[in-house]
Amino acid sequence: MPIEFRRSWITPELESFRSTVVRFLEDEMLPQDEAARQRGHVGHEIWRRAGELGLLCIDIPEVWGGAGGDFRHEAVLCEEMARRGLTGMSISVHSIVAHYILNHGTEAQKQRYLPRMARGEWVGAIAMTEPGAGSDLQGVRTRAERSEAGYLINGSKTFISNGHLAGLVLVVAKTDPALGAKGISILIVETENCPGYQVGRVLDKIGLKAQDTAELFLDQVRVPEERLLGGREGLGFAQLMSDLPYERLIIGLAALAAMEGAYEATLAHVRQRRAFGQTVADFQNTRFKLAEVATEIQVGRAFIDRCVEDLVAGRLDTVTASMAKLWGSEAQGRVIDTCLQLFGGYGYMNEFLIGRMYTDARIQRIYGGTSEIMKEVISRGM
Ligand SMILES: Cc1cc2nc3c(=O)[nH]c(=O)nc-3n(C[C@H](O)[C@H](O)[C@H](O)COP(=O)(O)OP(=O)(O)OC[C@H]3O[C@@H](n4cnc5c(N)ncnc54)[C@H](O)[C@@H]3O)c2cc1C
Repeated sequence: MPIEFRRSWITPELESFRSTVVRFLEDEMLPQDEAARQRGHVGHEIWRRAGELGLLCIDIPEVWGGAGGDFRHEAVLCEEMARRGLTGMSISVHSIVAHYILNHGTEAQKQRYLPRMARGEWVGAIAMTEPGAGSDLQGVRTRAERSEAGYLINGSKTFISNGHLAGLVLVVAKTDPALGAKGISILIVETENCPGYQVGRVLDKIGLKAQDTAELFLDQVRVPEERLLGGREGLGFAQLMSDLPYERLIIGLAALAAMEGAYEATLAHVRQRRAFGQTVADFQNTRFKLAEVATEIQVGRAFIDRCVEDLVAGRLDTVTASMAKLWGSEAQGRVIDTCLQLFGGYGYMNEFLIGRMYTDARIQRIYGGTSEIMKEVISRGM
C-alpha cells in the first residue's frame, strides 16, 4: 500500500473544497505560471478569478464578504499551491492582511476592505520591513504624522510581497517615535491614485520568480484619520504580535506540503530514470533517502495537524506556532535538497519543479521572522 500523508482534520466537505482548489490551480494557474515567472507577477486577472471562485478570504465571515470557512480551508488552498510550487499569488499575505482588518479593524474598515479583498479587486500587502529595519521592527523609520486632514506618511519599505499588485497596503509606521513599541501604528494605504505613493521595480529574487516582491516609497502620502487600523494610535506592535500564530503556521504548513510535493515528484522521477541497467529507484541509497523523507513528512504531519486543530480551536500559542515555522522551513530545505540530488543534473534545471522548489524554499527560513528569531521566541517560552 502506498504511503499516505493523511490529515487528521480533513472532512468530506474539505475534500470537496480541495477538488475545487485543484481544478483552479491545474486548469487556470499552472498554464500561466511560466509567463508569470518571466513577468515577475501573476497579474490582476487571476486574483479576480480566484475571488470569483470564492477562494480568497475563505476564513473570513460571510457578513464581510468572505466565504465563512475556517483555517482548514485556508490550509487546503495554501497546501495545494505549495505542493505544486505555485508561489505567484501570495494568498497567505493577502489572508494575513484580511485578518489584521478582521481582528483589529473598525466596523467601517471591515466593511470597506474585506469584501473587496474577497472579490480579488484589491490585493493586500503588509509593509513592515525597511532598508534599515527587518528583524528589529522597533527600528522602523517610516513616520506617520498627524495633521488636520489625517496622517502624512513618509518613508520607504522593501521586500514587500504582493507589492506591485497591491490595492491596499498596511503600512507599519511610527506615530510617536518617543514611545518605542507603543509609538507604532498601522495605517491603511489605498494605492490607486494615491499621490506620493510609488512602487519600485519588482525585485529580482533567486526564487519565487512569479511573485511580485517590491520596494515602496511614501512621500507625503496623505491618509484620512479613519484609515488608522483599529482607530487608535500606538496599537500597531500589539496588533502585529497577536496575529503571529496564524502567519507562522501558514508558513509551517506550506513547508510541509512542499515537502510532500517534492517527495511525490521525486518518486515519479526515480521510478522512470534508468542507470546501470536499473531504475534509480532500485538503488538502495535512493530507497533509503526517500524512506527518510517520507518518515520526516509523516512525523511533521502529526505536529502540523495538531497546530491546525489548535488554531481552529483558538488555542495555538505563538511559541508553538514559531516551532511550526522553524521546523517546517528548516525541514523543507533539507528534504528538497535530498530530493533534488536524486534528480541528478535535471534537478538543477528551472524547468523541473524540484529545481524551482529548491530556490523557492530558501526564503522560508528568512521571511515571517528568521529561524534565529524563531529560536529567540521559543527560548523565551522556556
Ligand atoms: C521574498 C521576500 C518576501 C518578503 N515579504 C515581506 C512582506 O510582505 N512584508 C514585510 O514587511 N517584509 C517582507 N520581507 C522581509 C523579511 O521579513 C525580512 O527580510 C526578514 O524579517 C529579515 O529581516 P532583514 O532582511 O532586515 O534581516 P536582518 O534583520 O538584518 O537579519 C540579518 C541576520 O541577522 C540575524 N538576526 C537578526 N536579529 C537577530 C537576533 N536577535 N538574534 C540572532 N540573530 C539575529 C537574522 O536572523 C539574519 O540571519 C520579505 C523578504 C523577502 C526576501
